[in-house]
Amino acid sequence: MVILLADTFAPDLPARIRPFGEVATDLGRVAEAEVIIVRSKTKVDKAMIDAAPKLKYVIRGGVGVDTIDVEYAKSKGIAVDNTPEASSLAVAELAFALMIAMPNHVAEADSSMKQGKWLKKELERTELGGKTLGLIGIGRIARELALRAKAFGMKVIAYDKYVQSSDAAAMTSLDEVLGNSDYISLHTPLTDETRGMINAGTIAKMKKGVYLINTCRGPVVKAEDVASALKEGRLGGYATDVYDKEPPDGSPLLSAPRVLLTPHLGASTEENLLRLGDCIVERLQKYGRK
Ligand code: NAD
Repeated sequence: MVILLADTFAPDLPARIRPFGEVATDLGRVAEAEVIIVRSKTKVDKAMIDAAPKLKYVIRGGVGVDTIDVEYAKSKGIAVDNTPEASSLAVAELAFALMIAMPNHVAEADSSMKQGKWLKKELERTELGGKTLGLIGIGRIARELALRAKAFGMKVIAYDKYVQSSDAAAMTSLDEVLGNSDYISLHTPLTDETRGMINAGTIAKMKKGVYLINTCRGPVVKAEDVASALKEGRLGGYATDVYDKEPPDGSPLLSAPRVLLTPHLGASTEENLLRLGDCIVERLQKYGRK
């Protein structure tokens, strides 16, 4: 069988999956593929599925299957899998990096120094210790972030529509998280319920000057509303790894103040690429074809 490795994984992955079939990396061979393996870049949409008449199995190396038209795949008898267990640590560490970078003005200090400025007085910092981190969604990534935040002396509270208790955080209502947090970090999947969940209305319930961190999915926030809140000073900062459209050409966030941007790096650690490889080999073993 032909296995189409459509996106970039660890360099050793082609060799590791060769025992299961012929490995192709050229998207032009989609018509021959029985298995397609993707990360985030390649979308397995209706058009791609229609172009792959031999397709039986799609594996997404990552959390969630929102880049795959699962319903259409299922209607064609194509199985879809992901690897939700692999990436938690990688994403949590990026969320933590974004959270600690904002009040320490890391990006602004660095870029201003390189422009020959010495903003020692202007760049007054604040500390994470003693502050409250509010998590929206208390799944795998949020729980890893909670551990790290507690080690920094933060109080951690959380809201999750589907989880009532957790060892990782004090569970409470969405309004309590919005109103009582100094930092809010988003960790839900993108669903009809979470799309646009952070908007002018929910931002108005937050403490003035709150720092918002988004490593889940761009459309969970309304980018226009976040950009306005930054300009008005309602939000102290917005750090995001994810966008409505990637790259986010034309996004109002690109010109808003106190924004810290990373290009969807959450899962992109060396260690995670190796873990993704392990998960994919395991999925192919279960698929059971040689
Ligand atoms: P998870 O499934 O373990 O946790 C998600 C949590 O969100 C669950 O506890 C669920 O109950 C909760 N939830 C669902 N709907 C909700 C709602 N309406 N309100 C409140 N809570 C709700 O997922 P995870 O592994 O922690 O990943 C979280 C998200 O992070 C993923 O869905 C994905 O979109 C994103 N992600 C981003 C990157 C990146 O590169 N930046 C990498 C991996 C995952």
